Amino acid sequence: DSSYEEECDYLFKAVLIGDSGVGKSNLLSRFSKDEFRLDSKPTIGVEFAYRNIRVGDKLIKSQIWDTAGQERFRAITSSYYRGALGALLVYDITRRASFENVTKWLHEIREFGSSDMVIVLVGNKSDLGHSREVSEEEGRSLAELESLCFMETSALQNSNVEEVFLAMVANIHKIMS
Ligand code: GDP
Ligand code: MG
Repeated sequence: DSSYEEECDYLFKAVLIGDSGVGKSNLLSRFSKDEFRLDSKPTIGVEFAYRNIRVGDKLIKSQIWDTAGQERFRAITSSYYRGALGALLVYDITRRASFENVTKWLHEIREFGSSDMVIVLVGNKSDLGHSREVSEEEGRSLAELESLCFMETSALQNSNVEEVFLAMVANIHKIMS
């Protein structure tokens, strides 16, 4: 309901990161509006979306930033990361290259982001198992190696989307309190 504002206990910023086409915008629209788009409209869309999440007895307002397609040119600037406490680093399980680029994105996050940022590695498009190029085990191993949380999701089927954002929020809350 937009006609009134709930009192929230915390407000924090989180960012979506990863190669173009991996499903970042759809994960965010699924999470914030329960919507999915079959076509990719990288330049249309909001800069960020809000959602209130209850963790224990606290109400946390998360402001989640999405790129407007700049990731295609590796032109994401430091202001995108500024003040962010969390990041979802997304790859596409059907596109190996997007998984191989995860380490590049991690370098960028660690260069521009704060050192205690909660990062969740997300293997999206789990509904496309028949054209999978990255096993779940590989995703999990990389996450362990880099000390990240890990989950596979499907924005299309709305599978694990809620869980992945909640995991990030809960971990941020743990660090803040
Ligand atoms: P972004 O560039 O990372 O923001 O990616 P988009 O959210 O624009 O998605 C790119 C394309 O992948 C679009 O055609 C989406 O419909 C599609 N897509 C996104 N998430 C999923 C998913 O979970 N499963 C499938 N099958 N397609 C998806
Ligand atoms: Mg996008």
